[in-house]
Amino acid sequence: MGGTFDPIHHGHLRTALEIQQWLNVPKVNLVPAKVPVHRESPGSSAEHRLAMVQHAVADEPALGCNALEIESSHDSYTVLTLEKLREQHGEDTPLIMIVGMDAFLKLHTWFRASELLTLANILVVARPGYQAHFCDALKALVDGHITADKALLLARPQGVVCFHELTPLAISATQIRNLIDDGLSARYLLPESVRRYIDDNQLYRTT
Ligand code: ATP
Ligand code: MG
Repeated sequence: MGGTFDPIHHGHLRTALEIQQWLNVPKVNLVPAKVPVHRESPGSSAEHRLAMVQHAVADEPALGCNALEIESSHDSYTVLTLEKLREQHGEDTPLIMIVGMDAFLKLHTWFRASELLTLANILVVARPGYQAHFCDALKALVDGHITADKALLLARPQGVVCFHELTPLAISATQIRNLIDDGLSARYLLPESVRRYIDDNQLYRTT
């Protein structure tokens, strides 16, 4: 499950955990994206975002953090990450990329979008405020790949798209950054360890 995680919050964490339980897999990994330095402000650096994800998953064995994008020398492109994971895990291992509905609606605009399903399966999770209304370009991309059978996500190495609804949590990192910038509390929207990290490092304050 990729993201900028700027910062990671309970929407991400609950989603990842519910999917781990639903698929009955040992672990779901969060993959913080490397964001070009000039795009970071008013967000936080890759190092801070990675540290926050690591704090957030530290006491949950069902969740992990994979720093391969942040450690890479180039900017983040999901297709390159999936190529790397495919290389590491071999051609028969199912790879499942988790994306929220908001991200999925723009999938056709991603770099080398038509190759994504040749490398991985895609599990789309509902996100409050985003309807499953697909534009023609997205429809063309996923046509023939959609299934309601979650077993296929674990049986096929790639090429399967599946949708899943979970506990709806209308939390976003944007909302959290805005609260902090306004001097308001973001408590209970994100783990206490992450909130403390933000406080200690004075993140998201522009004034
Ligand atoms: P921002 O507001 O900065 O865009 P965000 O809250 O959307 O932050 P991202 O890091 O952009 O967080 O999202 C990473 C992934 O997690 C995306 O696939 C996104 O759709 C999904 N996601 C984020 N928040 C939720 C949520 N509350 N429920 C379900 N999925 C979520
Ligand atoms: Mg987002």
